[in-house]
Order: sequence, then structure tokens, then C-alpha cells
Amino acid sequence: MKGFDKLEKEVIACDLCTRCGTCIGICPAETLAYEDGRVVDSRQACVQCGMCNTVCPGKEFPMDEWSDRLFQKPYDTRKLFGIYQGIYTVCALDEEIRTKGSSGGIVTQLLISLLESRQIEGAVVVREKKNEPFRFESMIATSTEQIIEAAQSKYVVLPVNQVIRDIRRSGRKIAYVGLPCQIQGMRKAMADNAQLAEQIVVLISLFCGFNMEEEATDYLIGKSKIKKSEITKLRYRQKRGKETGFYIRGRDEREYFINKHGYTFMNLIFSPKRCWKCYDYSGEFADISVGDAWEKGDGYSRVIVRTQTGSELLNMLEKQGKVRAESCNESSIIKTQKKVVTYKKRQIAVRQKGMKHFPDYGVQFEQCQGKTRIKGVILYTILRFFKNPVGRLVIRILPFRLLVKVSERIKGKEVIKVEN
Ligand SMILES: Cc1cc2nc3c(=O)[nH]c(=O)nc-3n(C[C@H](O)[C@H](O)[C@H](O)COP(=O)(O)OP(=O)(O)OC[C@H]3O[C@@H](n4cnc5c(N)ncnc54)[C@H](O)[C@@H]3O)c2cc1C
Ligand code: SF4
Ligand code: SF4
Ligand code: SF4
Repeated sequence: MKGFDKLEKEVIACDLCTRCGTCIGICPAETLAYEDGRVVDSRQACVQCGMCNTVCPGKEFPMDEWSDRLFQKPYDTRKLFGIYQGIYTVCALDEEIRTKGSSGGIVTQLLISLLESRQIEGAVVVREKKNEPFRFESMIATSTEQIIEAAQSKYVVLPVNQVIRDIRRSGRKIAYVGLPCQIQGMRKAMADNAQLAEQIVVLISLFCGFNMEEEATDYLIGKSKIKKSEITKLRYRQKRGKETGFYIRGRDEREYFINKHGYTFMNLIFSPKRCWKCYDYSGEFADISVGDAWEKGDGYSRVIVRTQTGSELLNMLEKQGKVRAESCNESSIIKTQKKVVTYKKRQIAVRQKGMKHFPDYGVQFEQCQGKTRIKGVILYTILRFFKNPVGRLVIRILPFRLLVKVSERIKGKEVIKVEN
């Protein structure tokens, strides 16, 4: 057994599938598809080539081997952000790009600069679907307008790497943006396919604490009381004055806005089980990783430069006068993201112990102790509770405003606003 049947049995059925989409993009028979939140053999045309199993990062991604291969250094589980050359706080100097981006618009600026200087002929981004502006899909952007249009984080599980099929067909030089699990799939696919490796100029990772099922977006749409059919725009990170948050605009110009601190509680309710097993917070195997620099406000990104390619690209942006970059260190990230980093990198052993199937990362996690362990157990219990039927019922019964209040209390001050 080495075909899709193996993938289904050993990865998908075991809650090991990240839904990165790499298998879909690589399959030579083009028989795999993403339907109802699951990878399926849609045409029943698997030819048992085994490629989907080879590139899948869901069941195994030996970090020690990849660390050696990419950085010629051993993997060290004591390090929270992987191997890197430098950490920076960066913002795009173009106001439109900075405002339209999630944080400092760095990813968008980098993609535009690469395209305009003809170092790439396209960029993998995530855009809204044409007739469903509340759903998203990956695509190859080939113009500055398309790249700007696709700016901002989409907090929803998406099989981004199915775009591999289009990348190979296009023959273009491409810059790739993805989440840590998608980067892992892409690395595996590039290792197995020389043409693809030749085409990908740079791998840019977003940091990823949690992701959410599509159900989370539907939940917020439900609270907005704006019908799906009337939505003209949906953003998870809309900037409005000093605030940033989830935003929907309806056809009749009705607007709904909830500050980002108000919906953070949803991570605990709607995060997929596979995300509980994830050990990569900062995209440790990318060329360059980008996250929020919360202590500086919404207009700044945190950038971790890992490879020579990553370093050259940040230098290029600085030389072109497109960004301002200040060197910083891990403590800047820890200052505002300690909880989520601890959850992912330190408390993983707690979750590993409780779960039947776990990815093979080729490393031994150290069991955390004391308060960190207790908090890890509590968090894991909450995650599990909301996945069972009683938990689902509680979500429906609990007043939304109460959940928002609790969320704000934990994350900060802020407000929820509905405007008619
Ligand atoms: C699910 C998720 C969880 C995250 N968790 C954290 C976190 O815990 N801590 C943290 O510091 N940062 C996190 N981020 C990253 C953060 O939200 C910003 O994306 C990052 O700071 C880059 O900002 P920017 O302004 O430079 O990027 P932008 O200029 O806004 O560009 C973002 C690029 O990413 C692409 N993109 C958006 N959503 C996705 C997606 N789901 N999959 C693949 N590509 C996508 C867009 O198409 C765009 O090209 C997360 C992002 C996502 C999508
Ligand atoms: S044809 Fe190959 S890649 Fe496609 S599903 Fe079958 S084994 Fe997987
Ligand atoms: S390649 Fe990605 S989408 Fe396909 S089975 Fe593996 S983890 Fe899931
Ligand atoms: S938490 Fe990990 S598995 Fe889940 S979307 Fe983020 S990177 Fe992928």
C-alpha cells in the first residue's frame, strides 16, 4: 500500500493531516481534491505512485534532518524560534501597503519589490473567492494590484499548497508565502521535485500560534446578522483608526466590527486537532519568517531572517528605501507572545502524552514542570472540552458578549461594535 489509501489510513484518519494541500498539488494523476474540509480521491484515479505520501508533512517532518539539510546545524529543542541569522522589527514605508497589511505590510512589500525587480514572475498569496468574499483560496498573483488585494491574514485552514499544480504548469519563478506546516510540505515537495525547487525563489512563513476551522468564520458571520449572500467584504485584520479587528461589510453598507482581542477566545474553540500537535510557531524552515510586533502596535512586523536568501531580501528592501528595520531579539517576541509560544513549544509534551497519534518530528520533547505544566494541562482540557458535544452546546448557549468580555479581559481592553 503506497497510494492515497495509505495517506488516508495513516494521516487523514489519524488527525495528522494539516490540510496544507501539498498532496493535492503534487499528485500526477490530479485525482486529489479538497472537499468539505478533507482531502479526498475525487476521481478515484490514484495510480499508486506514492508521491503524496512522500511529500506529506502531516505524519512526519524530522526537524533534526531538515535542520542539518538547510542550516548544517543540529536541531535544538531548547530554542523557541529555530535557527536564524537575525531578528528585526520592520515596517513598510508606503502607507497604503502598511495599512492594508496585517502587521507592517512586510510580506506584501517584499512580494511587490521582487515582482517589480523581475526576480519573480508571480507570488503565491491567499485571496477571497470571486462569488464568495467570505471564503478564501490560494493563487499565483502576477501583478502588484493582485498582491495588495490579497494582503492580510486569513485565519482559516486552507489547502494553500494545492497551488503547486499551477506553479509547475506556469513554469514561472515564484515567491511563496505560507504557514509553518505549509512551508514544511513545500520543503518536502521541493526536495522531491527539482523543477519545483528551481522555480521557488523564496519561502516566506507567517508565524502561526493557532489556526481555525471555517466554522469560526461562519460563527462570526452569524453574530454579525449580515447574510452571507449580502457580504461584499470580509477581513480578519481590518485597521480602523487605532483598532484592528474582524470586519464585514454588507451590500447596504451595513458594517460589523469586532476588535481582535474580542475574538481571541475562538482559538480555543475552533482550532483543528492537528494544530494542537504542531511544534513550529515561527516557520522554522522558511528563508524568512514574519509575525506581529504587538508591542510596537499594528503597523509593525517581526521578521526572522534564517537563510542567505532571506538576509539578501531584507537588505534589498532597506536599500530600496521600502522599509525601516531595527534589530531586536527573542525577548521582543516573548514580551507579547509568551503564552502562545509556551503553548506551542513548551507545553507540547503535555498534549503529546494525551493523544494517540502524533507527528514524528524526530526530536524528544522535554516534559515541562511546575506552573507551565499545570497551565498546559488546563489549556489542553479546555481544547478537548470544546471539541466534544457538550462543549459545542455550551458555545451555543453562552452569550457571545460574555465570551467577548472574557476574551478582552485576558487579552486587554478594547470593544465590540455593531453599526447599522
Ligand atoms: C492562521 C494564522 C495565524 C497566525 N498566528 C500568528 C501568531 O500567533 N503570532 C504572530 O505574531 N503572527 C501570527 N500570524 C501572522 C500575522 O497575522 C501576519 O500575517 C504577519 O505578521 C505578516 O504581516 P504582514 O503585514 O507583514 O503581512 P501582509 O502584508 O498582510 O501579507 C500577508 C500575506 O500572507 C498571505 N496569507 C494570509 N493568510 C494566509 C494563510 N492562511 N495561509 C497562507 N498565506 C496567507 C496573504 O495572501 C499575504 O500575501 C498568523 C497568521 C495566520 C494566517
Ligand atoms: S496518484 Fe500518486 S500522488 Fe496521486 S493519490 Fe495516488 S499515490 Fe497519491
Ligand atoms: S500533504 Fe498536507 S493535505 Fe495532504 S494529507 Fe498530508 S498534511 Fe494532509
Ligand atoms: S498551528 Fe501548525 S498545523 Fe495548524 S495551521 Fe498553524 S502551522 Fe499549520
